[in-house]
Amino acid sequence: MWNDTGVELVEPLDVDLSARSVGDGVLVRGTLRTRVRQACRRCLAPVEQEVDEHVDLLFAPPEEDAEDVDDGEVYPLPARGDDLDLTGAVREQVLLQAPEFTLCREDCPGLCPTCGKDLNEGACECVPEAAESPWNALKNVKFD
Ligand SMILES: [Zn+2]
Ligand SMILES: [Zn+2]
Repeated sequence: MWNDTGVELVEPLDVDLSARSVGDGVLVRGTLRTRVRQACRRCLAPVEQEVDEHVDLLFAPPEEDAEDVDDGEVYPLPARGDDLDLTGAVREQVLLQAPEFTLCREDCPGLCPTCGKDLNEGACECVPEAAESPWNALKNVKFD
């Protein structure tokens, strides 16, 4: 279920949540704990990170003008009698905790763009190409 996000759970999700009624809705509050694994954005090495996050999830009855609600932590309350399914909300919270730009280390040199060698393991034989000039696009402008 996590495959499309690039975020993989390394450990089972440990949730400690309690729910209570607030007005027309239900407030679910507690902690989520797990470890997530993502690929380094530069060299693709797996990087594991702790997630230990306090969450407040408000489930409220859908409102007519829901478009105006700009609070990412309000979820629609299911119809009366249905069980509250936390899967979607919890998944979203875990994904929010996973950093968008994961690096195995801050100065990861990444992969050589020419030969694909992981430069963490040492330099390759490639001669670095001259950086492309930001003005190059102007050379190709054709005039009729
Ligand atoms: Zn890396
Ligand atoms: Zn190379």
